Amino acid sequence: MFETILVPIDLTDIERGKACINVAKRIGGPDCKIRLLSVIEEVPSYIAVELPRGLFEKSIKTAEQTLSDIAAAAGGNCDSQIRTGQPRRVILDAANDMEVDLIVIGSHRPGLQDYLIGSTASRVVRHACRSVLIVRQAPGN
Ligand code: ADP
Repeated sequence: MFETILVPIDLTDIERGKACINVAKRIGGPDCKIRLLSVIEEVPSYIAVELPRGLFEKSIKTAEQTLSDIAAAAGGNCDSQIRTGQPRRVILDAANDMEVDLIVIGSHRPGLQDYLIGSTASRVVRHACRSVLIVRQAPGN
């Protein structure tokens, strides 16, 4: 039913990301392409000038390696990509330019149980031109 599924992964919450990958694999089946995407937020220029040179580039390299390891562990039909910008905007753009059939996204970070859905996920649901599946965390997790 789904040929390509986009799974946005927040690298500050890898376990939740892996739960989303597992859902995508179950829904997509063996021939479905699963595309992992992590978005690194750009540092405002007035802060960037205070940071050691090359720190942002280094964090992107680290993120690329981390996400590619997650993709490798997930299996053959999974690839990974790092983009920079505002996560919700970049996720929506990526879903369009990758022409995915479905976005599988987590609901929110642990410790935010009072919120039904986080800000990134709610924007993606509201504005995506694709189907979106929200992976809700179990109560207490
Ligand atoms: P919260 O505000 O509770 O973290 P969000 O709506 O921001 O909730 O995040 C929920 C989901 O959105 C994450 O599980 C992930 O799928 C996606 N997401 C959030 N931030 C990023 C990011 N920087 N890169 C990729 N995906 C992200």
